[in-house]
Amino acid sequence: MDGTLAAETRALLAAAKAWLAELVEEGVDAFPRSAPPLAALPPAAEPARTGQLDLAAASGPAPAAERPTLAQVRERLGECTRCRLCEGRTQIVFGDGNPQAALMFIGEGPGETEDLRGLPFVGRAGELLTQMIVKGLGIPRGDVYICNIVKCRPPENRTPHADEVASCRPFLDGQIDAVQPRVIVALGKPAASLLLGRDVAITRARGTWHSYRGIPVMPTFHPAFVLRQYTEENRRLVWSDLKAALEKSRL
Ligand code: URA
Repeated sequence: MDGTLAAETRALLAAAKAWLAELVEEGVDAFPRSAPPLAALPPAAEPARTGQLDLAAASGPAPAAERPTLAQVRERLGECTRCRLCEGRTQIVFGDGNPQAALMFIGEGPGETEDLRGLPFVGRAGELLTQMIVKGLGIPRGDVYICNIVKCRPPENRTPHADEVASCRPFLDGQIDAVQPRVIVALGKPAASLLLGRDVAITRARGTWHSYRGIPVMPTFHPAFVLRQYTEENRRLVWSDLKAALEKSRL
């Protein structure tokens, strides 16, 4: 191998290592074989593509007169079979909390405990999220609204595929329209990527303000990632993101 080729190979390897380290930091520990990348999702500004629902288009907040209630969104979701995630679920995990919350948390998808109990974020990651809300922010969990980008548990808790996220998106948009939060906190890469309309590196996006249909969005680490990498630094970063979100929601 000549000198230039060896140097290029070393540079390539270093870049690959840095990319893998970033993925690990974001909590990615496996690549699904056939999943289209989240980047393939329609951008946030595009209307939802199911064509079967007249929940508000995803380009801006719904006019007050057209806002659905959470009960209406839940009713339209029904016993959903729009994607393959219905096959493995015990029950749909729709959402939980104050229907008029100023602060809305959006995670990835139900885990085992959530699937069994029918409520979002009630397993180990949920306990940490609840602690951050109650002890960290000093507000009852029931004051905020919590849901996920998909409402059914993905098998083995894998990351939801792009088509699953797309099928569920009108219902997430319906929940956002119904609650009209002042601020949304996107928990982890999949939720942040959906709301920002592009494949985000959560380490870079967290702590910075974005917007989804006119609503300020603060991406932060998923509590499951914080549990896996339970460092003072990660807890400090999430704490500062949540504090910023709460403050903005009160302006
Ligand atoms: N992780 C999520 O993203 N959502 C839940 O509801 C539970 C764990």
